Amino acid sequence: MTGFVFSEKPIGIERGEGVSLYDTDDREYLDFGASYACAPVGHCHPEVLAATTEQLETLTYVQASYPNAARTALYDSLADVAPGDVDRVWLCNSGTEANEAALKFARHATGRPEIVATMQGFHGRTMGSLATTWEDAYRAGFGPLAGGVEFVPYGDGEAMREAVDAETAAVIVEPVQGEGGVNPAPTAYLETVREATAAAGAAMILDEIQTGLGRTGTLWAADGHGVVPDVLTTAKGLGSGLPVGATLVREWIAAEAGDHGSTFSGGPVVSAAAGATLDVIEREGLPAHAADVGDYLVSGLRETLGDAVREVRGEGLLVGVEVKRGANPVLRDLAMEHRILALPAGRSVVRLLPPLTVEREHADRVIDALEAIVA
Ligand SMILES: *Cc1c(COP(=O)(O)O)cnc(C)c1O
Repeated sequence: MTGFVFSEKPIGIERGEGVSLYDTDDREYLDFGASYACAPVGHCHPEVLAATTEQLETLTYVQASYPNAARTALYDSLADVAPGDVDRVWLCNSGTEANEAALKFARHATGRPEIVATMQGFHGRTMGSLATTWEDAYRAGFGPLAGGVEFVPYGDGEAMREAVDAETAAVIVEPVQGEGGVNPAPTAYLETVREATAAAGAAMILDEIQTGLGRTGTLWAADGHGVVPDVLTTAKGLGSGLPVGATLVREWIAAEAGDHGSTFSGGPVVSAAAGATLDVIEREGLPAHAADVGDYLVSGLRETLGDAVREVRGEGLLVGVEVKRGANPVLRDLAMEHRILALPAGRSVVRLLPPLTVEREHADRVIDALEAIVA
């Protein structure tokens, strides 16, 4: 074994189907986080597979400056579903690159240096995005990072108003802090960010890399709050597990975005996968389904776990259970004894983010398992 960045878990996943994963002994696990929000339509969805393999056999790659049909179709699909007029599209290979581009575009379009980010926020691990990521554990030893970043407390409208001024290029913010502990923003807070940036001529960048594509119960969390940002970034679920990210911007940013590029931008295969994923999400009404099963899960968890946990919070199928002791022992029991794979968010939060296709019966299994572990 030669990898060194990740510590590996003691379960070898071999295949996936729908909301289930199977290990090398063909034992089934319920995926409530193992796919990291990257399987919104479930594992190995036949339509995504068909579109992707057909594209792979037709044209795997062509230089980004030639149009390709799959990319053109994806531009159109994203523009169709974009909030408001945030409909100019840049495609890249990951979440951090989508934010990296957002920050570059905002600085170039405004001609200003400063970025406002939020405490506990997570925006990725490349040098620019990392500079807007709060937690020291992600940053330590990698400096100097990109400069000009100021952090304000998440959810504090007054602090946001004070921080945004004529030097501000952009505010970057998540509608629900994912890595930071599953912290949903109230609508009023996002409205304040919107007003403050608009008044200062700065860009509002909404990081929907984890929340996008139906997870919070609307296609974009922005839709649920009725807030239209200047830039929206998304990635995780977009390619159903293939690496593709998108930076959606308004015309005033697109017109002055500056020079940017990437060899793999909008490659035919990932574009086909993303186009098919979006089609399935829309046609099967998965955002509304996520809202329904998410509400069922949250109220079931609250009712069943009660005082045995500190809090259950979330939006749609991005749910955090704040436990009284560390999240890791709970996650281990969930996986080893109940065959449910979930994720931590910080030290004490168990994060549940299954494919959007999960049903109430799957939610019941998770509620019962958590009850057995913590109650
Ligand atoms: C995962 C994530 C990122 C980074 O995405 P990568 O694809 O890992 O680079 C950025 N922002 C948010 C909110 C995320 O959840």
